Amino acid sequence: MVHYIAEDGVELFELIHTYLPPEDRQLVVRAYDFARQHHGDERRMSGELFITHPLTIAYYLAEYQLDAPALAAALLHDVAEDTVVSVEEIRDLFGAEVALLVDGLTKFKVVTTGAAQQPLGPEAVRDATLRKLFWTMTGDVRVGVIKLFDRLHNMRTIDATSLESQRRKAEETLAVYAPLANRLGMWQLKNELEARSLRILDLRAYEAIVARQEQLKHQHQRLYARISPEIAARLTAAGIQPVDIFLSPENVHSIYRQSLQEGRQGSHFSLDDTPRLVVVLRDVSDCYLALGHIHQLWRPVPGKFDDYIANPRDNLYQSLHTTVVHSSGRRVKIRFRTVTMNILSEVGVLARWLRIGRPLWSEELAQRVDALFANIEQSMEVEPADQHSGVQAMMQDVFRDQIMVYTPAGDVKELPKGATPLDFAYAIHSEVGAQCRIALVNDVPTPLNEPLRDGDHVRIIKKGLAPQRIWLDEDLGFLTTNTARAKVRRWFRRMPAADAVAEGQHLLADELRMLGLCDLSPGQMAGWLDFNSPTELYHALGRAEVLPTTLATRVLTETWEQGPHRNVGTVVESEDGERFIIIDASQRTLRLCRKCRPRPNDELIGFSRNKRQVTVHRQGCTVLPMDPLAERSLKLRWGTDEQCEVRVVTVQVDGFDRSGLLYEIAELMRNERINMPAVHADTYEGTATVRLEMEVASPRQLVRVLHRIRALVNVSDVTCMSPQQPSPPPGRNGAL
Ligand code: MN
Repeated sequence: MVHYIAEDGVELFELIHTYLPPEDRQLVVRAYDFARQHHGDERRMSGELFITHPLTIAYYLAEYQLDAPALAAALLHDVAEDTVVSVEEIRDLFGAEVALLVDGLTKFKVVTTGAAQQPLGPEAVRDATLRKLFWTMTGDVRVGVIKLFDRLHNMRTIDATSLESQRRKAEETLAVYAPLANRLGMWQLKNELEARSLRILDLRAYEAIVARQEQLKHQHQRLYARISPEIAARLTAAGIQPVDIFLSPENVHSIYRQSLQEGRQGSHFSLDDTPRLVVVLRDVSDCYLALGHIHQLWRPVPGKFDDYIANPRDNLYQSLHTTVVHSSGRRVKIRFRTVTMNILSEVGVLARWLRIGRPLWSEELAQRVDALFANIEQSMEVEPADQHSGVQAMMQDVFRDQIMVYTPAGDVKELPKGATPLDFAYAIHSEVGAQCRIALVNDVPTPLNEPLRDGDHVRIIKKGLAPQRIWLDEDLGFLTTNTARAKVRRWFRRMPAADAVAEGQHLLADELRMLGLCDLSPGQMAGWLDFNSPTELYHALGRAEVLPTTLATRVLTETWEQGPHRNVGTVVESEDGERFIIIDASQRTLRLCRKCRPRPNDELIGFSRNKRQVTVHRQGCTVLPMDPLAERSLKLRWGTDEQCEVRVVTVQVDGFDRSGLLYEIAELMRNERINMPAVHADTYEGTATVRLEMEVASPRQLVRVLHRIRALVNVSDVTCMSPQQPSPPPGRNGAL
């Protein structure tokens, strides 16, 4: 681990001698001389000459055989920021390629053009600098790579700076640079950045994890000594030559993150103590063959197999993952990968430059990196003034776990996990998003708010003219990316006032019709939402400043008490007098089991002692009979005071008759935990009418459910029936 390259640069020059041609080496030497001269006697906090910093970064890059312009830019990267030299001067002396890289690495400066120039605060400068860095990187990945090694060197030598600045740098590293390294597949570097940041931010946790890791290492080594010859023997007997078998420890920061998720604090870190073995093989087919042989040798744990060779991860990582039960009874994680994949898993995008006798870089990898850059570029295209855009929103969209989705032309689109067909449509183009009404996912019509999966093929059918306001309601799940939401918001913000009022009025009428509330006065509704007049309300609806669903929820809240209600909650008290509410007990008297003492979040089973009395058990309670009599057990769940009283609502759904529609509605109800006491379905000449009686907990839930049903494929209309409306006459039974 190199922290320091002496100021004469000899170590760097020797290293580049091994792979750069003379004219390229000359460029590097010229850049060194220039930087040396301009940084002069400037020193780092640690007391070393400043030039050692750019020199060390250039050395890091040379270890991965980066080209001469990248090395020159690394040497010059602080010249334009810290000295009087301008980027233009660098362009004149070293050419446009080097100058572009240096510019991307230089802090954002406000170009003073007018007198009214506002000075930017440190936050804004930081954002603008990151923005510039990411922009330049999408055109030239070398900028990102140099920046990451710059940060690595700063983190390695951070002890010399103030504690305050250490914390700030560590936080920024975790928020921006570690995720960037991850997306570029630079795993080794990412791990070091994370570990060093954690050491600064939470020393106690860091030390506890490292100590526990050390302990586990010894334990795992014994197991490794036994298992690896067994694997080697089995594979060799089958004619497969393993290149290497090694133990791969869990990384410090991911243990920390997992522990935080599990709500553990202090020094108790749950270390997954399953050893992880990597088996390196000669080629891809050997990987699959080896997997088959190991599965015959030891039983695989179901659900633990992942094929990241056929479906590489968003950070270029490829491997076959499995977990097996070794004959000693211990679980062992095993990863199978080729030599190339193994190097890639450490260096990621650096494989583009690194030559070790075989090509590491492929067309497929290049395509994936391009998809990442297209994604970053698009996420940053939104107006900078939009408060929901900018670097942070981009980080949220692009640096979450990603999936790869295919266009009909076979192009790859990168989207965050959970993204919908509508997100996809907006990722193609704003217009495609705005006009999107139907999505075919793997040739099957799919609701626009249904999350896509990795590898899906998506075709968008344009039918509409404009986006819909309800897409902005996060609860309905139509859009998950900040970019797409910003685009929809912008569309409505630009709408002329007269059009906004007209559309708002229309929208309101439509929403009220859906709720079955047609006799409310517009003036009254405007008042509920603090508007002075109906026109103001229409305008706000038209501009999407108030969403129709928000309005509907407010209106329903006002009228909620008027409809029929039913009580579904039962109060039960524990021995020590704690009060709980249990849902679905149908008015029977409840008692909590004294043996298993169920607590909220436990899965519940009710067991009826007689018609009126039920005991509530935790699922799996030993008091329950081994073979519980079905008719005497009840599925119960915990509730809150608000869930006790449900409103009984009858909803009519009209649509095109197809198999599966009723199932999809029922699925929706199940996810919302809505009970449906009655369902009636009719079909007539290809159309279906379904009437559902549902027990709804809150106005918000009703609005959500109505819109979610309407989003289902082939549903044309959804309306609430007013309570006094008669049930439909008995009709023909349909295919539903
Ligand atoms: Mn620097």
